[in-house]
Amino acid sequence: MDYYSSQITKLIEELSKLPGIGAKSAQRLAFHIINMPEDQVKRLSDTIVEAKANVRYCKECFTLTDRELCPICSSPKRDHSVIMVVENTRDLAAYEKTGKYNGVYHVLHGAISPMLGIGPGEIKLKELMQRLQGDIREVIIATNSSLEGETTAMYISKLVKPTGIKVTRIASGVPVGGDLEYIDEVTLLRALEGRVEL
Ligand code: ZN
Repeated sequence: MDYYSSQITKLIEELSKLPGIGAKSAQRLAFHIINMPEDQVKRLSDTIVEAKANVRYCKECFTLTDRELCPICSSPKRDHSVIMVVENTRDLAAYEKTGKYNGVYHVLHGAISPMLGIGPGEIKLKELMQRLQGDIREVIIATNSSLEGETTAMYISKLVKPTGIKVTRIASGVPVGGDLEYIDEVTLLRALEGRVEL
């Protein structure tokens, strides 16, 4: 039964497709949007469309950016010979928030998961190996401590070792299965400083 006008039902349906938004939240958001001033709604929808149109992967580290090279990769102040490998852009943001890491990143956009059928070819590993042909001193593997994160870390270390480049893994102490973005900055820093050579 269609309780609301079909337009509102459609809006609720679209909103409920977003992660973490259940039917009730979608309803609440839909009514909130309907009650918002028109210019604010337009700004919101324009922002979504523009972000989608302009945001892409950095051609170096594959983080999300609206330029060809992200601000980190294009900064001369960063140490471009140290690459920290993270699973996603959120993890990169978590390390950036500590303000203590001066190297660059490589965003894999996922982790190897035989269970979910995600193989090495589905994440940005080939691209990482290409970067290692440059002048690289160290690869810091900062994938999550979940099963997938550990599998990925092992896989990367096997790939990198033959190149002679130093490979390190951030220290455990990051809770198992812990999503890096939810871990506080002190813990992240400790994990980074306590990294061990593989
Ligand atoms: Zn970049």
